[in-house]
Amino acid sequence: MLPQTNHYMFEMIRSELSWAVGDDNVRDDDSDKLGHSIDYYWMPEMWHDRNQPPRPPDVVVTPETAEAVAKVLKIANTYKIPVTPWGGGSGSQGGALPIYGGISLDTKKLNRVIEVDEESLTITAETGCNMQQLEWATEKAGFSTMHFPASIACATLGGFLAHRGTGVLSTKYGKIEDMVMSLEVVTPEGEIINTLPVPRHASGPDLTQVYVGSEGTLGVMTKATLKIHPIPESRKFHAFLFKDMHTAMAAGAEIMSTRLRPTVIRLYDEPETAKVIKKVLDIDRQGSYLVFGFDGAEDMVDLEMRKACAICAKQDPEDLGTQAGETWWDNRYKFFYPPYMFQLPQAFGTLDTVGTFANIEKIYWAMKNVVEENFPEATFIGHFSHWYEWGAMLYARFIIEEPPQDPHEVAALYNRIWDMAIRAAIDNGGVINEHHGVGLKLGRIMPDLYGPAFDVLKRIKTALDPNGIMNPGKMGFGV
Ligand SMILES: Cc1cc2nc3c(=O)[nH]c(=O)nc-3n(C[C@H](O)[C@H](O)[C@H](O)COP(=O)(O)OP(=O)(O)OC[C@H]3O[C@@H](n4cnc5c(N)ncnc54)[C@H](O)[C@@H]3O)c2cc1C
Repeated sequence: MLPQTNHYMFEMIRSELSWAVGDDNVRDDDSDKLGHSIDYYWMPEMWHDRNQPPRPPDVVVTPETAEAVAKVLKIANTYKIPVTPWGGGSGSQGGALPIYGGISLDTKKLNRVIEVDEESLTITAETGCNMQQLEWATEKAGFSTMHFPASIACATLGGFLAHRGTGVLSTKYGKIEDMVMSLEVVTPEGEIINTLPVPRHASGPDLTQVYVGSEGTLGVMTKATLKIHPIPESRKFHAFLFKDMHTAMAAGAEIMSTRLRPTVIRLYDEPETAKVIKKVLDIDRQGSYLVFGFDGAEDMVDLEMRKACAICAKQDPEDLGTQAGETWWDNRYKFFYPPYMFQLPQAFGTLDTVGTFANIEKIYWAMKNVVEENFPEATFIGHFSHWYEWGAMLYARFIIEEPPQDPHEVAALYNRIWDMAIRAAIDNGGVINEHHGVGLKLGRIMPDLYGPAFDVLKRIKTALDPNGIMNPGKMGFGV
């Protein structure tokens, strides 16, 4: 932590940082610090809401180049000051919270689009780019990143890389780790390195993927090259209402195992169909809503659509047609914002888990049962949003309408639900998690998830960040 109590030392380090990155890029006023003490994790939101003292950084720095990031990390290493990268602050795991004070390294001024390579179909950009801006820059050149997360307007490229993020079209175009070609990274000791320029090679382990998902604990990613895609000639959607989640899951799994290439499949369990889909799509019948889409050349889209519809028809669902699918697509971000999204004073969390088709329904029922049996005040809903050849991601949520008012009591209740639900998922073959990351929220569960292999991850952390300055307290690495 910056030695706040020792004013001489604090002023010396602040002067050193100012010299390195410019006066305008070093801020320690209360509003800047407060703004960097709360992300999209429910816990700090509740903490602030109930007038508890915030845990801000000592100083916020906004370097404008990778060289400036390197200078900041060298200073932090000299004085052993914690550095927590901050992108858009939209992470749901408390990953960007500077819980031990020190430097909040805000990447928003690292926001240049460097090159669109129209021959190889790649884009190179700095990691502080807001994802919507990056998509617009790509579209201006006639292409698309095909990365459409619900937080596209409030999160950065670096944040997605750090949390292994995903967008609504991931089933065809992949997650951010499938999109990334290479990275520029500033190591904790202040060296600027580049990973190999192509993602498929046999030159040893994949260094790019060591940094992807490392949540700011191994260094700061400053630049990335991503694949981009032509804008498809056609994109179509179709929706069905199945009698229950099980039959809908059978149809979704068959679409994937026959190797059709949907851009998206989204399947809502009966309670979420009743609670959320009903509000947006005005469907007031009992059942499990499933929507899918295909894109590409029109004749291929039509063929894949027909085949996917035929697979669904085997389960005898109500055919809601293309309009109920198009409406879902038009509203795809709406589900994640008020009044459709849960908000304080409710207590809520996204218990996301990923598993194989052989396990995913078991995981769903294990989590649902453990939540509903132990916490009768909680509602459990879920949908399956990202699909693979081998399985799917469960975006399960719990909601408590009237949680206890005492902040310590509600925090303990909240953590208990996570502890029990996530361990029930792990016991049934689930992995936490598919695209939200670990952060502060789930670090304590990492040893259970990995078993003895977690020690290998910890040794990588110690080797790459010997002074432990990078994002301490996150991902279960301790301090
Ligand atoms: C309404 C809403 C909807 C959402 N929907 C989605 C969704 O559809 N898909 C999805 O994947 N996520 C979603 N999220 C979660 C969130 O947007 C993602 O986790 C996103 O990746 C966070 O990006 P950020 O720039 O806000 O990162 P932050 O929250 O600022 O940081 C997240 C983590 O990344 C680290 N970090 C940030 N930048 C760097 C860098 N350059 N180098 C190293 N480490 C870095 C931070 O230290 C922290 O550990 C949603 C969030 C909200 C609020």
